[in-house]
Amino acid sequence: MTSSKRVETKLIHAGELRPRVAGAVNLPIFQSATYEYGGEDNYHDIRYIRLNNTPNHIVLGEKLAAIEGAEAGMVAASGMAAISTALLSILSKGDHILLQDCLYGGTHDFVTKDLPALGIEHDFIDASDPASWEKKIRKETKAIYVETIANPLLDVPELAAVVDFARDHKIISIVDNTFASPINFRPAEMGFDLSVHSCTKYLNGHSDIVGGACIGKATLVKNITRKLNHFGGTMDPHAAFLLHRGMKTLALRVRHQNESALKIAQYLEKHSAIGKVNYPGLESHPAHARAAKWFDGFGGMLSFELKEENPAIADQFLKALQYPISAPSLGGVESLITRPATTSHLGLSKADRKSIGISDSLIRFSTGIEATEDLIDDFDQALKKVSVKVSK
Ligand SMILES: *Cc1c(COP(=O)(O)O)cnc(C)c1O
Repeated sequence: MTSSKRVETKLIHAGELRPRVAGAVNLPIFQSATYEYGGEDNYHDIRYIRLNNTPNHIVLGEKLAAIEGAEAGMVAASGMAAISTALLSILSKGDHILLQDCLYGGTHDFVTKDLPALGIEHDFIDASDPASWEKKIRKETKAIYVETIANPLLDVPELAAVVDFARDHKIISIVDNTFASPINFRPAEMGFDLSVHSCTKYLNGHSDIVGGACIGKATLVKNITRKLNHFGGTMDPHAAFLLHRGMKTLALRVRHQNESALKIAQYLEKHSAIGKVNYPGLESHPAHARAAKWFDGFGGMLSFELKEENPAIADQFLKALQYPISAPSLGGVESLITRPATTSHLGLSKADRKSIGISDSLIRFSTGIEATEDLIDDFDQALKKVSVKVSK
């Protein structure tokens, strides 16, 4: 069952317990820290919430593996718990990792601030220029790490080249697949060894939990689970229940978000008050050809600039919107909007932001599942309000 055609069915049925618990249609929350001893002879097999082996954990791991067409999957307490535990299960003192130069802020901080203290080195690469990677590899290099769609300019790396490069050099290929979700891209099918997710975003989709996941080769997933058993970053069974429930509608949500984001991006691109629009579904986007070749949809995230490069006007525009909520994070049923200079990229200087193409008036939009027409009407009225102010 690795065909993307049947993902809707796998979201509902893959990994579910048979027989059902007491006939219940939904998997109950196993709110029990500990379980009767059953003769286990290995620490990791003792049944206990922190050891990631309650039915809530196991079912989610199997469902995640099924929807990405991978060997195995596991969940963690947050996206950062999944990412940090995965990296620390692959890298030890003296090792080196190559990473895409534009990363999720938490991952960037972890790699640049925490890994060096553990004697683990890194180099950043331009992920759309495979010819430049060879110069950065060392004999200590153990892995290469990219993001399917990078924040906030929505760039798409040379993903197939990452897989080839890792194979040629016998290193591990890792991709953060949060922005694409398994509906739009399944890394294992391309040959990635491991994908990591913030389930906080599309997988759960309702902005009411934090969670993370690692999906990929069974040996890697087993090692990561064992590290997580030691570090303790286990998903709580109640959060697992909510994630399980949220995932059932993943395909419906993401496909609507794909369609809606494309229409909104096209609307914005034509609007006279809007400057640049970044969306991989637009032909004007530098990674459009790659995204069109590899993805089943272009995702729900887009970013844009008003023609007038003035953060105060950008903020007035955000305030004038009726529906999108001004908040960080993404991937929920409600549309969210943010100015990265004030949220995700606040830690960088203005000059550093500029050098990676993030102006202080850049606006990032996470498309919810509201009616597309209502969102476009809302953008329209808000743009009219700020356009009046611009011309005063
Ligand atoms: C949010 C996010 C993370 C971190 O996930 P948490 O659940 O907040 O820990 C990692 N990668 C990407 C791309 C994200 O958007």
